[in-house]
Amino acid sequence: MLDTLTISTQPTAKSRLPEIDFDNLDFGRTFSDHMLVVDYHDGEWQQPQIVPYGPMTVSPANSAIHYGQSIFEGLKAYKSQSGEVALFRPLDNFHRLNASAERMCMPQLPEEIFMQGLLQLVRLDAGWVPEGPGSALYIRPFMFATDAMLGVRPSESYRFMIVTCPVGLYYPKPLRVRFEEKYVRSAEGGAGYSKNAGNYGAAMYPTRLGQEEGYNQLIWTDASEHKYVEESGTMNAMFIIDGRLVTPALSSSILDGITRRSVLQLARDWGMQVEERQVSAREIMQAQADGTLQEAFGVGTAATIASIAVIGYQGQDYELPAVADDAFSRRATAALAAIRKGQAPDAHNWMVRV
Ligand SMILES: *Cc1c(COP(=O)(O)O)cnc(C)c1O
Repeated sequence: MLDTLTISTQPTAKSRLPEIDFDNLDFGRTFSDHMLVVDYHDGEWQQPQIVPYGPMTVSPANSAIHYGQSIFEGLKAYKSQSGEVALFRPLDNFHRLNASAERMCMPQLPEEIFMQGLLQLVRLDAGWVPEGPGSALYIRPFMFATDAMLGVRPSESYRFMIVTCPVGLYYPKPLRVRFEEKYVRSAEGGAGYSKNAGNYGAAMYPTRLGQEEGYNQLIWTDASEHKYVEESGTMNAMFIIDGRLVTPALSSSILDGITRRSVLQLARDWGMQVEERQVSAREIMQAQADGTLQEAFGVGTAATIASIAVIGYQGQDYELPAVADDAFSRRATAALAAIRKGQAPDAHNWMVRV
């Protein structure tokens, strides 16, 4: 283990910042000047380095490529009107990264490397954090196996990195989704609660089939009966039924989203009844039929809250009511935005200043 953490920094010779059109950012395509890199070998994390963003060399026998020992995180840094930069709940991402690492037989990352690496990287590229409403610096920490060895076993060497991208205001167009009753994203006992790369790869084919039918994403159902709601695309699913916030309880097949936690906390702060439990597709469709399904939405870091306008179920499309200005999802979106931009009190100490 490291006694003292020094992060050597090799600044870029020429910043790309002046070339960037911040009014036309395509999610995940524009990368800031620098990245953090730290290797793990001989049972130890080595010295972290901040270097100019760019391609890197890995062995063709890299075991992340062949066997998928690869995990990631996603969080955002926000800039307030006074120019202060702050991260939203970064320690939650740190703990979840290590939970994913454990599931994939990867080494635990020390908190100091994650937090110091994150803070120093974002400080150095603070000019890349956009200021406008709804915009942020998207931060992608990730870890992957680096052994050059085709034998199937956990790798002995790894790399942890952080790259960042400025992202603009996300205009959440209400989604068309449908219940998926054939394919599964993850199963009880699987690795769905961990943020590992393979979960995404396996979800792409069924998602494409749904998109060919005109849906934006799928509402995944449980692997054994296809009865109960799991998640909505790559977001946690939430429903407002008769004034209550209903969301699937966490399990080994559901990812413990930080946006999910935050939205549930706001609902509880506002005195709303919150139910974390099994919720079936039938219950949702029944509530839709009797008019008690007021809202349905997905929650996650990229979009914060994405409203659902249409739900497909067993070959039929069902429309949800238009989202009113005082709808829960609108109020929660606004409340989170205000906390993140330093415009409202941060009652739960979610923000960490850079
Ligand atoms: C990352 C992710 C989420 C959302 O988590 P946040 O921490 O809120 O961004 C939800 N579901 C899946 C499958 C995810 O990978």
